[in-house]
Amino acid sequence: MFRVPRGAFDVVPPRSEVLLAVRDALAGPVRHAGYGYIETPVFEETALFVRGVGESTDVVTKEMYSFTTRGGDELTLRPEGTAPVLRAVLENRLHEHGLPVKVWYSGPYFRYERPQRGRYRHFSQVGAEVIGTDDPASDAETIVLAMDAYRSLGLTGVRLLLNSLGSPRSRLPYRDALQAFLRGLDLDDDTRRRVEQNPLRVLDDKRPEVQAALREAPVISDFLSADDVRHHDGVRSLLADAGVPFVDAPRLVRGLDYYSRTLYEFVHDGLGAQSAVGGGGRYDGLSEMIGGPRLSGVGFALGVERTLLAVEAEDVPVPVARELDVFAVALGTAAGRRLFALVTELRRAGFAADLAPAGRGLKGAMKAADRSGARWAIIAGDRDLAAGVVQLKDLRTGEQRAVPWDAVLPAVTSLPK
Ligand code: AMP
Repeated sequence: MFRVPRGAFDVVPPRSEVLLAVRDALAGPVRHAGYGYIETPVFEETALFVRGVGESTDVVTKEMYSFTTRGGDELTLRPEGTAPVLRAVLENRLHEHGLPVKVWYSGPYFRYERPQRGRYRHFSQVGAEVIGTDDPASDAETIVLAMDAYRSLGLTGVRLLLNSLGSPRSRLPYRDALQAFLRGLDLDDDTRRRVEQNPLRVLDDKRPEVQAALREAPVISDFLSADDVRHHDGVRSLLADAGVPFVDAPRLVRGLDYYSRTLYEFVHDGLGAQSAVGGGGRYDGLSEMIGGPRLSGVGFALGVERTLLAVEAEDVPVPVARELDVFAVALGTAAGRRLFALVTELRRAGFAADLAPAGRGLKGAMKAADRSGARWAIIAGDRDLAAGVVQLKDLRTGEQRAVPWDAVLPAVTSLPK
């Protein structure tokens, strides 16, 4: 027997219904706010991620599913959505028809990570990007829409962590100061190498002993320029106006190099080590990094599976697609043919209807009817056929009555659900 590859998973009914509902809920607020849907391929040129995400990031150095095609192209299964979406916006010249460009997307992403609860090699995100704006209102808008998505699911345990990484100009002196501090610590070889290549990434080290050593580390907020501070204060006051509480997180960094200024993460305490249910930020340099014009942007990616775990951890009821209204049971071939037509008619009229598989016998078919979750059963055998009726049965009370064939649709329409 084959098994699903390590780090990947199947989502099967009935949990898959909840997953669908979660995905829809995450996309709801951006769709409602006028963002356009964008779809890009699952693979891209490898160089897009090396340049866009950053050569020294874990994502690029350790986690990419890269391959050479038969034709010799170097491709990578997308590990994230922002660089591909920006590539597509530029390639399709959406930025030439008025700014900002607002788009949302949804789909699978791939990272060769060490699998654990909430961390997979194949996972899905719902994302949104606002491209071509320096306005702090855009940063705030993405945050509010993401928070509204979590709230629409009834989640109450999602906290917002907020930081500013400053613009690249204010980040340079910070990088130097942080590097000088980190060089003075007793760190393992791997981390030392990271200190030289990408010192901000060390702040993201989850080991308690490293976190303890970092307590005295310089913080970016002491290095922000006046413009950076003004931008950050703008975001903060808009969030306050919108009733979205946040926690200042001066050491928050994220695994992708393209961020500048606003950086945020949504965390949920019911998930254990992998507590981030979503995150985002501003990426003013990304367009130029991938060979485009100067074009700023801000956006988020929300993890669908982790949000599902949060929904399960809080045990909030998620409205899933309607169960069956009607389940039809045919006893005999002739009745089967008539009921097939009737079920088709009911479905076309908007009812959720299903038909028992042929040849089960009454007992097996009624068991299937009970399992289906339908409130009503329509039962017909040869004798009913001869009398021109079906039996309409309330599966909750067990009551049953005969209804003429041509009165079934109006009868079902008037039934309580
Ligand atoms: P990122 O693209 O790293 O900013 O991640 C955005 C969100 O995607 C995270 O907050 C998680 O909810 C989700 N996510 C990222 N990596 C994984 C993974 N390996 N498995 C499951 N969810 C993930």
